[in-house]
This record gives sequence, structure tokens and C-alpha cells, in this order.
Amino acid sequence: MPAPELITHLILHTTAGSWGSVESIRRQHTTERNPPWADIGYHYLVGNPFPTFETWKHKRPSIENDGKLFPGRDLDHDGDVDEEIGAHAIGWNGRSIGIAYVGEGGHITGAQLHEMLSLCRDLCHRYRIPFKNVIGHYETGANKTCPDLDMDHFRELLGLLQ
Ligand SMILES: [Zn+2]
Repeated sequence: MPAPELITHLILHTTAGSWGSVESIRRQHTTERNPPWADIGYHYLVGNPFPTFETWKHKRPSIENDGKLFPGRDLDHDGDVDEEIGAHAIGWNGRSIGIAYVGEGGHITGAQLHEMLSLCRDLCHRYRIPFKNVIGHYETGANKTCPDLDMDHFRELLGLLQ
């Protein structure tokens, strides 16, 4: 478990799927990976209007699920996700918190963006993380476009919240 003072970065991700929930992503990470992970890799997940395949397929968006914050990885089931070592960014997991939004191709809703910003602001204050250390997966050296957001723009929005 990383001591809180060791958390230096927040790393943003996209699930790269049009629908999803902590349960579906947890299933993906723990059964469809080889080797499988012990739990969902992210500390937090921000839902979009489509928590399940059925809601997405039948075009039945959910108001409550859009922008809703869900705790993710919790190996010891104590309800505290920040203390977990995530599985979301190679080389960074020991010192970062991973936050993903459900969405494909950078399709993020206003409610999701709002929740991502306020979560990042709160975590930055709690762990004394400068806004410049809120980075995207693509900025960790990984050969990815994840989270499919312009992180300079995101950090600019974060600065405006203060
Ligand atoms: Zn990612």
C-alpha cells in the first residue's frame, strides 16, 4: 500500500468502450487479461449514460449513471481505494491514482468532465499534488492515445476551478 505522501500523480484513462460499469470493467480486467489482474486496474471510474450493453444497444441512456463516480480497485475490501496499488500505467502504479471515464474515442459527456475535474481537484488538494501532475496515460511514455483528451486543455480547466 503506498503511503499517501508517495502519491505524486493522477493518471487519466478512457475505458475505450461505449458502455461499462465497475462490474463489467472488473470482469474484463480479471478474466480477459492474460495473466488476469487481481481486480479492476483503476482506482476510480466515472460512468457515462450506458452502464450495460443492453442500455447502449437499446439506446436507453441513464441520467443517474452519467458522471457518477464509482470506487474501483479495492483488494482488501475496506472501502478505501486510494491506498491500493493500481494496475493502469506501467512504471507509475506505485505512485499514482488511476481514474478512467467510460467512453470511446474521447466521447466524454459534460457530466463526466465535470466529475473528472472535481475528483482531480479534490485528490490534488488531499495529496498535495500540483495540477501539472495530473496527466494522461499517453504522457506516461506508453504508446497510447488514452485518455483521448487534450491534457493541456484538461489541466487548464482544472486551474480555472480553483
Ligand atoms: Zn489508459
